[in-house]
Amino acid sequence: MAGALVASASAAIGASGASLADIAAAGLSAPGPLDHQTGVILITQNIAGFKDVPLAAMVESRLGGPKVFLDRDTVMAAIGEGLAGAAKRARDFVYLTVSTGVGGAIVSGGRMVRGASNTAGELGHFPVGFDRDVRCRCGSFGCVEAYAAGRNLAEAYGVEDASIVYAKAAAGDARAAALIARAELALSNLAVGIVNALNPERIVVGGSVAEHEPGHVLEPMRRAIAERAFKVPGAAVQVVPSALGGDVSIVGSALAARDRASGGGQWFL
Ligand SMILES: [Zn+2]
Repeated sequence: MAGALVASASAAIGASGASLADIAAAGLSAPGPLDHQTGVILITQNIAGFKDVPLAAMVESRLGGPKVFLDRDTVMAAIGEGLAGAAKRARDFVYLTVSTGVGGAIVSGGRMVRGASNTAGELGHFPVGFDRDVRCRCGSFGCVEAYAAGRNLAEAYGVEDASIVYAKAAAGDARAAALIARAELALSNLAVGIVNALNPERIVVGGSVAEHEPGHVLEPMRRAIAERAFKVPGAAVQVVPSALGGDVSIVGSALAARDRASGGGQWFL
């Protein structure tokens, strides 16, 4: 794992014509839960065999040069959007990714919300449904992810990729349309919950499903907020697409590494 990461980093350094000595710091984004201060991945929901892995130190020693800074992929994405993307100058925003899975990060009052164990912002596991049959990988049921993640949509319909479910629904398939309507409702409930509980000025939505199907992701969230969120926070929020697209976590990782190496980045630590 660390070897593959180092090989990829070395190839990128080579392709850019730089040398290791030119690199001051490197950022590494990974699924959580993890400890961004020590660079240790605690455990991963979706990748078997990861427990208490000091990934930042492993990559750093093999890379043999720059200091490596680890953080959760969605936190890196929020740092990217906050410093250089759709949440620039916003002090209160939520980053939400709707992709293979659903995840997020919360910035409140100009600070990344970390929580007691650094899992704050794991919005994919916000429970929005009462149906015990809609099981989630986390062990619970009714999580947003269980309804709206690309992988879950594809599994529920019985195909490899969620894009097929969207195509089937567009062609008039009732079962596909029902699954998508359910995913939209799950995202709508999450959006209303985010607005009512956190009062953000922006919800930045990234991830491949959001990028390809904004009409089934951002639009239902906007409609639900307009229809049934508390009026004052509802009027204060904008639901906007990610400005950094598929590179959001990479850009965020680079910016995080730059700031942490220079002793900054206090707002997200
Ligand atoms: Zn869950």
